[in-house]
Amino acid sequence: MLWLAFGPFHAMENQVLVIRIKIPNSGAVDWTVHSGPQLLFRDVLDVIGQVLPEATTTAFEYEDEDGDRITVRSDEEMKAMLSYYYSTVMEQQVNGQLIEPLQIFPRACKPPGERNIHGLKVNTRAGPSQHSSPAASDSLPSNSLKKSSAELKKILANGQMNEQDIRYRDTLGHGNGGTVYKAYHVPSGKILAVKVILLDITLELQKQIMSELEILYKCDSSYIIGFYGAFFVENRISICTEFMDGGSLDVYRKIPEHVLGRIAVAVVKGLTYLWSLKILHRDVKPSNMLVNTRGQVKLCDFGVSTQLVNSIAKTYVGTNAYMAPERISGEQYGIHSDVWSLGISFMEPLQLLQCIVDEDSPVLPVGEFSEPFVHFITQCMRKQPKERPAPEELMGHPFIMQFNDGNATVVSMWVCRVLEERRSQQGPP
Ligand code: ATP
Ligand code: MG
Repeated sequence: MLWLAFGPFHAMENQVLVIRIKIPNSGAVDWTVHSGPQLLFRDVLDVIGQVLPEATTTAFEYEDEDGDRITVRSDEEMKAMLSYYYSTVMEQQVNGQLIEPLQIFPRACKPPGERNIHGLKVNTRAGPSQHSSPAASDSLPSNSLKKSSAELKKILANGQMNEQDIRYRDTLGHGNGGTVYKAYHVPSGKILAVKVILLDITLELQKQIMSELEILYKCDSSYIIGFYGAFFVENRISICTEFMDGGSLDVYRKIPEHVLGRIAVAVVKGLTYLWSLKILHRDVKPSNMLVNTRGQVKLCDFGVSTQLVNSIAKTYVGTNAYMAPERISGEQYGIHSDVWSLGISFMEPLQLLQCIVDEDSPVLPVGEFSEPFVHFITQCMRKQPKERPAPEELMGHPFIMQFNDGNATVVSMWVCRVLEERRSQQGPP
């Protein structure tokens, strides 16, 4: 076909593109795109995320002329799909036919449901109440699709966060203090993570906790989980935060070093940010490091409210494998103790088990990891707190510098790949 020589994108530049997002077992949603040829894979995933907020979509498919499904997972594959679609549109135009929208089929996968390294179990029972998904509208205006998280933060921070607006869905996991649910926030149409903690405390203490949590509204870093609000209902507090569709790091096996490096950079930046606000994390560990399919890495569950920490400690007193030796032996807790936990979080579970306060600090097996990585971990895990790197030394460490390139795609591709693998092992959602 001759027109192909001029490139179908040029011919179609002013054409409005309609993408029909097929919803599994129900209808479809049409999305009108005004800049079709410039459309990126990530844009489509974002829109699918708005249409199917319950699912974690890592890829989608379209059908070729034989009805075979072709998967799209990257910008390159997007280009191929658009090119194919525009060629069919040209044919329809030439033949005087009606132009069909571009049909795509989202491929959703289940969120991570199993934990691997510490033998902890996740209860997959449903949340406090079950409600059906919101009905998909027939069409979505393109400008209403991208609600920025800043905007959402504003909506939610306006005192609108309350139990009535929340529909609890799956259980994401149980911790020592409470249970985390994936939940649907009706007014904003957003999916949240809600941590529910049972606390039998006085009204006075409830108020104190609420005011201590205020600082979370001010936390504004892309390495810290977004906070949308908290409220007490009877004897339980619900803390609403941004939902991370990749879950926490503890469910990922063997993370390749080039991915781990980028994750470590984000964690160091998140900690540095908290320390700059004079907040100690106090619970640095893989289950408090969350990832998403955009390749973002964020810290959660840091101890901003002393009262909350104390109240939880009344029902649960214990140590965990990530705690610094000085903390276990009841000495003073400081930035250095967070640094120890940072180091040990990036070690393999095998070495983790060997980590006993009275023994020497564990070391990583030689040869399996790069020298800067081993050095980084070893420095973070010096027995003497003062010998561990200070915040600026962490950022300047060769291991961190090496991976401080802002390459979120590496993490994004890895998260998507692992989620897809789990999806294929678990069967259809
Ligand atoms: P601990 O109570 O000792 O801190 P924990 O961190 O495993 O342990 P929770 O904080 O209750 O326990 O979290 C339970 C699980 O819920 C986490 O392991 C994580 O997988 C999941 N989770 C927590 N917050 C989110 C979130 N914002 N988005 C997605 N998953 C989350
Ligand atoms: Mg946690």
